[in-house]
Amino acid sequence: MKVVVVGSGLAGVTVAEGLAADPLCTVTLVTSENQGYYAKPRPSQGLSLSDEAAAGILIKPFAAFANSIQRVTGVRVAQIHRAARYLQLSTDQQLPYDTLVLATGSSARIPPELEAQQGALLTLNALDDLLALRRVLRGGTRNTTTTRWAVVGGGLIGCELASDLHKAGAKVCLFHRASHLMECQLQEFQSEALAQHFDAVGVEVRLNETLNQPPAGFDATVVCTGFLPRTELARAAGLDTDKGIVVDGFLRTNDPHIVAVGDVAQVGGRLFPFVAPVRSQALWLVQHLLGQSAEAWKPPAFTPTIKVHGFKVPLANSGSKSPA
Ligand SMILES: Cc1cc2nc3c(=O)[nH]c(=O)nc-3n(C[C@H](O)[C@H](O)[C@H](O)COP(=O)(O)OP(=O)(O)OC[C@H]3O[C@@H](n4cnc5c(N)ncnc54)[C@H](O)[C@@H]3O)c2cc1C
Repeated sequence: MKVVVVGSGLAGVTVAEGLAADPLCTVTLVTSENQGYYAKPRPSQGLSLSDEAAAGILIKPFAAFANSIQRVTGVRVAQIHRAARYLQLSTDQQLPYDTLVLATGSSARIPPELEAQQGALLTLNALDDLLALRRVLRGGTRNTTTTRWAVVGGGLIGCELASDLHKAGAKVCLFHRASHLMECQLQEFQSEALAQHFDAVGVEVRLNETLNQPPAGFDATVVCTGFLPRTELARAAGLDTDKGIVVDGFLRTNDPHIVAVGDVAQVGGRLFPFVAPVRSQALWLVQHLLGQSAEAWKPPAFTPTIKVHGFKVPLANSGSKSPA
């Protein structure tokens, strides 16, 4: 079976490595990344790391992948030719497949009111983004001035980034359009404890603020306002898409030769953009494609861990201040 996997995030690499262990599979991994595999959650804690520790975020360079996986890196898939079953790459190369695995993940979402200023904004969605943020931070350190950062979005990634920038020595202001931080993950008393924690350590939090331009007086503005599954390739090829690529419980698209997995897959109307379900989907897909699992994929129970330095989410509303 000739399998082509698009994307070298958690989903794509897990599927490629799992299938490549089977001698009957020929696996090709195509990716626009050019360094290697890294755990995507690490960059939100990567500002405060030393250069040496930050280099360790890259878990496996592409050169260290097993030879049984053919790698086509630093290249975008431009088009899927479904009838003839091949991919058109941005390099003019063509890649034939029997089974195509779309693991194209998600990109950072910029809210419509800030889209016109996109060139003046930074995001944090990939290792290259982290490296760009570290360069801005280092600019300030070299000039021995403290950099001032605006972080837009008080969800999981925005709060983690604000906390890590602060730990790295930056002055940080966190803008959030809702009345509570991380309102999708935390109960109100927990959000309040988090806001108190930020206040105590010196991260300014501005709630109920919707920005329609980068705020003045900052060296950098990082937008952390959610993610968008990368569905363009699938949509252009006529696959069913909605919030993500629409798949059934077996991760099948409406083309019998194409499956989707990870952040980009919309299963039973839902996206599962977290490490635990993405890994679970990818491991399940390997078993299924190798004929070892006839049951549909079942989402695991999971709770994302919140990584704000020095903050532990209180479990009960004791009315006390946030724990140190
Ligand atoms: C900063 C940050 C912090 C996070 N923290 C947490 C956390 O604490 N806990 C948690 O559970 N989850 C967290 N997440 C979410 C989690 O990291 C993702 O759910 C998971 O990594 C998604 O993996 P994926 O393989 O589906 O997609 P991705 O990692 O996005 O990989 C997609 C791949 O597809 C490639 N690609 C896309 N389009 C093309 C194309 N046309 N041609 C070639 N290649 C292409 C990309 O280069 C990339 O390699 C975080 C995410 C971010 C961004």
